[in-house]
Amino acid sequence: MKVEIIEPHGLCAGVNAAVAKALSLKNVYCLHELVHNEIVVDELKALGYRFVDSLEEVPEGERVVFSAHGVSPDVRRLAEKRSLKVVDTTCPFVAKVHRAAKAFAGKGLDVVVIGDGRHVEVKGIVGEVGKASVVGSAEEAEKLHLPGKTEIAVVSQTTFDAGEVGRILEVLRRRYRVVSTAEVCTASKDRQEAVRRFDGDALLVLGSANSSNTRRLCEVASCRTFRAGTMDEVRSLDLRGVERLGVTSGASTPERFFDEAVKFLRNVPRHVAIIMDGNGRWATERGKKRGEGHIAGAKKLDEVLGWCAERGIRYLTVYAFSTENWKRPREEVDGLMKLFARMLKSKTGDFVRNRVRFRMIGRRGDLSRSLLKEVERLEKLTASFEREFIAAISYGGRAEIIDAVNRVKGPVTEETFREYLYAPDVPDPDLVIRTSGELRVSNFLLWESAYSEYYFTDALWPDFSEAEFDRALESYARRNRRKGGV
Ligand code: SF4
Repeated sequence: MKVEIIEPHGLCAGVNAAVAKALSLKNVYCLHELVHNEIVVDELKALGYRFVDSLEEVPEGERVVFSAHGVSPDVRRLAEKRSLKVVDTTCPFVAKVHRAAKAFAGKGLDVVVIGDGRHVEVKGIVGEVGKASVVGSAEEAEKLHLPGKTEIAVVSQTTFDAGEVGRILEVLRRRYRVVSTAEVCTASKDRQEAVRRFDGDALLVLGSANSSNTRRLCEVASCRTFRAGTMDEVRSLDLRGVERLGVTSGASTPERFFDEAVKFLRNVPRHVAIIMDGNGRWATERGKKRGEGHIAGAKKLDEVLGWCAERGIRYLTVYAFSTENWKRPREEVDGLMKLFARMLKSKTGDFVRNRVRFRMIGRRGDLSRSLLKEVERLEKLTASFEREFIAAISYGGRAEIIDAVNRVKGPVTEETFREYLYAPDVPDPDLVIRTSGELRVSNFLLWESAYSEYYFTDALWPDFSEAEFDRALESYARRNRRKGGV
């Protein structure tokens, strides 16, 4: 997936100045959220900020911050009456709209505000004028009823959709003589135009759900859109099938969150597959039984699952037991099968708690009835979870292809053939890691790994460390995956 940054994006000058001013204060009150962004709000809370919905909640004489999108004169009067020390972060562009609306009303003109009547900025402008009509769409503009009026003044919410403002103005100009030019602010307009121009498969807008300009960016895009306000939300996005993703952010989204999200989207493989090799050698080198090596290997797998979760890796497939492994001594095979059954039982709580879906790929008919029952129980129990742990048991890449061929009916293409594989809906692995110094594919995911990147390490599986795992991810992130293209 190609991740493209859309410019301009992110913090506008107004919000930037408001946040900078707010961060220099501690233990103060703030009327409403300073900006509609949970990351910024949490940061201010950590500085002792108390957010209130009304000035009545602020004790007399205390300091209170007004947000970038302004307040009405009523609110200012109340602040004065209660002797509050006001820190006003109203953006100069918003203040200019307030002044214009007030001047038009002063001349006896009816003022029409284009915007969302519920938004704090629109409430502020209406409060400035005393009485104003609010229209949010061309349809509402058609229905606007101002008896006996032929001349009106129109102003706009600074973050409204610039295209919609144009459409509304067209209607109003047809019906009235409009004596003003309503415009959204340059920052909002530039961000919306950049999004409109983007012609990729999908757009990701980083910003909070309650941020008006973030929602607006989602609305004006001409492709599929996603929105995420936190890294958890970014990590849980389902971007399957997206080849070109544009990333932008709302005017109140901090740049550090933007950078982290882009880094994540660009660098982290979605699907990591591991050939967990070296348990037996690890045990032999320590004078232990091979079975003890497998137990140590199972513990390592537990750790790796945690590392994947922390790094936002959505799919982890591990080569637990190959079709060739049945040739191993009976005692070792029996021990391994018992270990699998024990693990599935004892880890059920972890899978559910961490919302990890368990799946098995391989020849199910080779498993004992009791092990298969455990596999199917856990698969059913976790079927609705988003992250996936896929265990390849009695698995062989050739066997998978042969099993698929035997089920195929009629001619197939590469795409339709994959429907016959063991887990057709799982994306191909981006990165395959093999431990223990062997430089072979060993019949693992032969079809699925056609374009996978490989990483080999000398570490025996029980010794595989988090630092080594990160080295594998870093190596992957540096590679240019052209998949046969240029
Ligand atoms: S979006 Fe525009 S009006 Fe609103 S704070 Fe930013 S620069 Fe000011």
